[in-house]
Amino acid sequence: MKKVALMFVLAVLVPSMVLAWLAVRSLRDQQFLLERQQSLLCQGVADGLAKDVQDALSEQQHVFTAKVSALLQGKTPIEAAKDFDTALRNDWSLARIGFVVTLAGGLLSPTAEESMEARKFLEDNGRFLANRESVEVYFNPKQALANTYGNMQTGLSSTTAPNEGSLDNIKRFGVKNQMRNVIPQQQQAPFLQKFSATDESQQQQQISKLAPSEAEFRQLIGEDRDGMLARFVDNKLNLLFWYRSPGDPQVVFGAQLDLRRLEAELKPVIAQVPAELQQDICAALLDDGARPVALSRRDFSTVWKRPFVATEVGEALPHWEVAVYQINPAKLTETARNMKLTFGMLIALLVLAIGVGSWLIVSDLKRQLTLARQKTDFVSNVSHELKTPLTSIRMFSELLAEGRVNDPVKQRSYLGIITAEAARLTRLINNVLDFARMERGEKKYNFEPFDLVALVRETTESYRPNLEAGGFVLKCELPEQGPMVNGDRDALAQVVVNLLSNAEKYSDSRKEVFVRVTEQAAPLPYLETTVMDRGLGVPRGSEEKIFEKFYRAHDSLSSGIQGSGLGLTLARQIARAHGGDVVYEPREGGGSCFSLRLPLAVTKN
Ligand code: ADP
Repeated sequence: MKKVALMFVLAVLVPSMVLAWLAVRSLRDQQFLLERQQSLLCQGVADGLAKDVQDALSEQQHVFTAKVSALLQGKTPIEAAKDFDTALRNDWSLARIGFVVTLAGGLLSPTAEESMEARKFLEDNGRFLANRESVEVYFNPKQALANTYGNMQTGLSSTTAPNEGSLDNIKRFGVKNQMRNVIPQQQQAPFLQKFSATDESQQQQQISKLAPSEAEFRQLIGEDRDGMLARFVDNKLNLLFWYRSPGDPQVVFGAQLDLRRLEAELKPVIAQVPAELQQDICAALLDDGARPVALSRRDFSTVWKRPFVATEVGEALPHWEVAVYQINPAKLTETARNMKLTFGMLIALLVLAIGVGSWLIVSDLKRQLTLARQKTDFVSNVSHELKTPLTSIRMFSELLAEGRVNDPVKQRSYLGIITAEAARLTRLINNVLDFARMERGEKKYNFEPFDLVALVRETTESYRPNLEAGGFVLKCELPEQGPMVNGDRDALAQVVVNLLSNAEKYSDSRKEVFVRVTEQAAPLPYLETTVMDRGLGVPRGSEEKIFEKFYRAHDSLSSGIQGSGLGLTLARQIARAHGGDVVYEPREGGGSCFSLRLPLAVTKN
């Protein structure tokens, strides 16, 4: 049994406990995984929108190139340069200023007298465009658009050879780290996220992936046909498009973009959040001051510097970000909590099922093992019970047969012993055969109305010599005539004999047996035949077990009393087949009290 239990613990309980523990552990990571999933999804949206913004810009650059080409139609570049500023602004709403420069350093348009705007433009950009000053610029947008931002390479456009010596003259600021002006919540290292305090001051600001360069205008454009560049003048972003005239590559036409109008162009781009996410997130285009210039949901407002995820637009709009915010940040935690709860409950249920299943299996196993042991005991008990009477029958019959006993009293006594032992043998064999029949469901009863009191009297009297020979005092209290009972006489006689034989077997020094038949009224009229002794009594806790097959409360080894553990099982089964029962109760003053209860036969009036 111990071995089986150990096997069970090792093969079922331990693995299932380990599995449950692993499942609980993995549950703890569920929320993190869910957040990670969500952040990847949102990051995808932000990256996609940033790419769309870049595409929209390069689209505008094509429009600019087309406009300039149209203005150059039929004119020499120098002729077109004269009123280029006015002509371009009239023709293209995104232009704030149109300018024309020669690579030799000549500023052909606009002139300071034209307008206040033109004067401001020349103040800010004149020296840079005339190649008299190197400034900090974000350039090479073509490459930035072709690849996604961030993997910018040094040097000019890879498609064209750089100007002689220009590469060496351009000073890159890649090493001088610039900070992003937003702190995306989902872009910190996971371990930082888990352990860092939520205090904003402790959250790390991220380094921008953009690197400005210091160069003159001529160095930047190299031999490219067109392009765009961005620079900050007095912390204000200036975005310049330029296009080299095909007629005279020495003349470059350009425009400074009107940012307010550009923002209006970009608004529809930001509105293109995937439909399935529109309810959960809001996308925003943030300018270099982290102010929202375009939103996917008009009514949304939050701390703009703390998006869920964000992506830098790139060199064309340096420090502009496409940011994604969660509409209801608690929703994710809620979903994770619900998921945890559901999984937790499932695991608990599983563990409970395993526990209950294990308990059922173990208790059934225990029952089977007890039964197997009882069966083995039964075989040895029965063999012993068969052998004892056979030995005495053989011994006494041999003595008589050899004529060695001449005393007639002794002869009678020996014959009496032989008869009693033969009866005991018959009883045992009957019990075993009847039990086998009952187990197979083949036991048949011969029901007929008869006088039970008369049957008890007959059976007791025939057993009396047996008891008295053993030194017992048998007292009976039987009514003269009892009511009729419907049943099988032989089977019921067998019940009474079994009870008498037990009273005899389990008696110690006080050898008194008392048999009584009484008529009871409630709950239905029945006859109660009680066999009482002053013997050992049934040990506490075994009062019901003694009716189970093979069960012996006084086993042969410790008590020295032989038995098969079948007598009471049979007695109860026979009684129940008659609609009655056999019950045990301890007798007051010591000993046992077994009662056979049988319903009375229904009498027809
Ligand atoms: P057996 O007597 O052959 O062992 P039974 O089915 O007749 O089998 O009895 C089952 C058990 O009930 C006995 O082993 C004994 O422990 C207990 N028992 C039966 N009758 C008595 C009694 N009169 N007094 C005390 N114990 C009894």
